[in-house]
Amino acid sequence: MAANDRKFIVFIGPPGSGKGTQAQIIKERLGLPHVATGDLFRYNLKNQTELGLLAKKYMDAGELVPDEVTIRMVAERLMREDCARGALLDGFPRNLKQAVALDEILAPYGGVTVAPLFEVDDEVVVERISGRRICRKCGAVYHVKFNPPKHEGVCDICGGELYQRDDDRPETVKTRLFVYYKQTAPIIGYYFCRGILVDINAMQPVEDVTRDLMATLKKRGLSD
Ligand code: ADP
Ligand code: AMP
Repeated sequence: MAANDRKFIVFIGPPGSGKGTQAQIIKERLGLPHVATGDLFRYNLKNQTELGLLAKKYMDAGELVPDEVTIRMVAERLMREDCARGALLDGFPRNLKQAVALDEILAPYGGVTVAPLFEVDDEVVVERISGRRICRKCGAVYHVKFNPPKHEGVCDICGGELYQRDDDRPETVKTRLFVYYKQTAPIIGYYFCRGILVDINAMQPVEDVTRDLMATLKKRGLSD
């Protein structure tokens, strides 16, 4: 495959808007890996790496991890073999500096292909985040009301224990939303000016969001 045939899809949206849920659903259909910076940090934290321990204090506070380490982590991740056809990026970039850095990383591959913007009201974000539960073992995402597991507290896929992320508690959610509007929202204009931003109504049920997302990607030649 020619280097500039790679497809890089950047999901933008507030925490809890459903980016990870959709990425998990469509990644196989697109044949692209799901690269989520929040997951990468949590993986590092679980394994007590230096990066994980550094990230922890920012994550606990709902603040962004410093750009330098985040950008380096993403650059390394995107050079891995499974990104040879591109990637679905979720949670990166999260500010203008990261958006510029991503352009530099992807310059040899034709840059960002499309940037779907997950639009949801703040009240919905709070409701979704407060009910989110994650599997400790495989990372699958549930919601106590909107996507409950068959047995409370147990992952349908691997039987692992479900837990609530520390940063999904109400005090931290407020800060994360504030950080989104202040630091991340400016990247909406950045991609809009390039003609690659697409609005997705993420208030709909999961299946309807998937349908709209796939229709958008198809229009842009990213899916059959
Ligand atoms: P993000 O990756 O944007 O932070 P998630 O994909 O983790 O968001 O979704 C946040 C929570 O909302 C999860 O508990 C998930 O099960 C739930 N969720 C995701 N999409 C929808 C939807 N369209 N309708 C209702 N609940 C949803
Ligand atoms: P998420 O799983 O996307 O909700 O991210 C959880 C936390 O990880 C965030 O609140 C930040 O502390 C950190 N994080 C994730 N992605 C980034 C990023 N691109 N830049 C800085 N910090 C990030």
